[in-house]
Amino acid sequence: MSFIPYGRQEIDEDDIAAVIAALKSDWLTTGPKVGEFEKAFAEFTGAKEAVAVSNGTAALHCAMAGAGVGPGDEVIVSTMTFVASANAAVYMGATPVFADVTPDTLTIDPADVARKITPKTKAIVAVDYCGQPCDYDALWALCEKHGLKLISDACHAVCGEYRGKPVGTLADFSTFSLHPVKHFTTGEGGLITTDDPEKAQLMRVFRNHGITSDHRTRAATGGFAYEQVMLGYNYRLTDIQSALGLSQLKKLPQWQERRWAIAKRYREAFADMNAVRPLAEVPHTKHGYHLFVVRIDPEGSRLTRDELFPILRSKHELGINVHYQPVHTQPFYQQTFGTKIGDCPVAEAAWPQILTIPIWGNMTDAQADRVIDALRLETSGRAAA
Ligand SMILES: *Cc1c(COP(=O)(O)O)cnc(C)c1O
Repeated sequence: MSFIPYGRQEIDEDDIAAVIAALKSDWLTTGPKVGEFEKAFAEFTGAKEAVAVSNGTAALHCAMAGAGVGPGDEVIVSTMTFVASANAAVYMGATPVFADVTPDTLTIDPADVARKITPKTKAIVAVDYCGQPCDYDALWALCEKHGLKLISDACHAVCGEYRGKPVGTLADFSTFSLHPVKHFTTGEGGLITTDDPEKAQLMRVFRNHGITSDHRTRAATGGFAYEQVMLGYNYRLTDIQSALGLSQLKKLPQWQERRWAIAKRYREAFADMNAVRPLAEVPHTKHGYHLFVVRIDPEGSRLTRDELFPILRSKHELGINVHYQPVHTQPFYQQTFGTKIGDCPVAEAAWPQILTIPIWGNMTDAQADRVIDALRLETSGRAAA
C-alpha cells in the first residue's frame, strides 16, 4: 500500500525542457518569459491583465495595494481561509474584520459581511473556499452600496465559474497561488488578475520596490536612472519559474477534468453515507476543486473527525488534512485585534467536523476508491459490500 497525498504536482519532460531553455537564455529574471506568462494567464481567465509575483501571499499584498488599503482601514475577510488572506491586510496597516461563512459551502456569508460593514470598511476579501465561487452577486451589491473594493482570494478556484463568468474576472482583483499543492505550479509563485490596466501597472511597480522601470527596460534604452514612487517590495517571479508556469498552464484543462471526475465519484459514493457529508455545490457555478472537504457528521459517524484523522493517516496511509482553523481563533489575531471565540459561530461549529480528502489533477479512480472504502469502513464499521 502506498501513501496517497491530499494533493500533488505533476512535472513532465516538457516542463523540464522549458526550465532548461530558460536557464540557457539571457534572462533568468525580469526577462521576456514573465510577460508571456502574464499574457497567457490573462487569456486563460479572460481577464484584461495578469500580474505575476513570487507567491500567492505576495499576490494578496499587491491586491491590497491595488485596492488602496492603508492604515486605519478595515478589510472584511472570510474567517474560513489560510491566514495569508488576513495577514495581507495587516501588512498594509489595516484591521481585518472576520466574517462568518454559510453552513452549506463555508464560503463568506454576505449577510454577516453586511452586519460588519462600518464607515472604515475599504474592501472585502472573498475566499472561494475549496474552489466554490462565493455569492458574488450579493457581494457586489454590498460593494456598490458602500463604495468598497472586492478582492477574490481565488487560490482554490482556478477553472471555476460563477453564472458563466470565469474565476479571475469576478472581482476588482483576483489572486492565485502557484504553490505545488495548487492547480498548477511554478515551485513558488502567484498571480493577480484585474480588468484595470492602471491598477495592473501599480501592482507591477509595487512588486519591484516601488520603482517604475525594470532592469530590462533600462537595458533596452541604455539609461541608468530610475524612480521610486512608492514603497514596494521585491515580489518578482523569475523567468525560470515563468517558463515552468507557461508549460504547466497548457496541461491545466486536462488536470481539471480529472478533478471534476474525482469529485463526482466522491459525491456519488457519499450520497448514501450518513457519516460523510460533502460541502454543497452551488447551482449556476462551476467548482474549482482545489480541495474536497467533507463534514464528518458526529451523529452519523462511529468516530469523530479527531478520532478518524490518525486512523486514516497511519492505518490507511491517506494524506488527509484539515483546512482551516478559523483565522479569528488564531492566537495572533486574538492577541493583536481582540478577536474571540463566538465571533463566527458557523465556522467555529464546522471546524471540529471538516476533513480534507485527497484530490489532484492526476489522481486515479482506484486511489479515490481507496479513500471512499477507508471512510466507509472507519465511520460505520462496515467494509464496502
Ligand atoms: C495557498 C493559499 C494562499 C497563499 O499562497 P502562497 O503561494 O502559499 O503564498 C493564500 N490563500 C489561500 C486561500 C491559499 O490556499
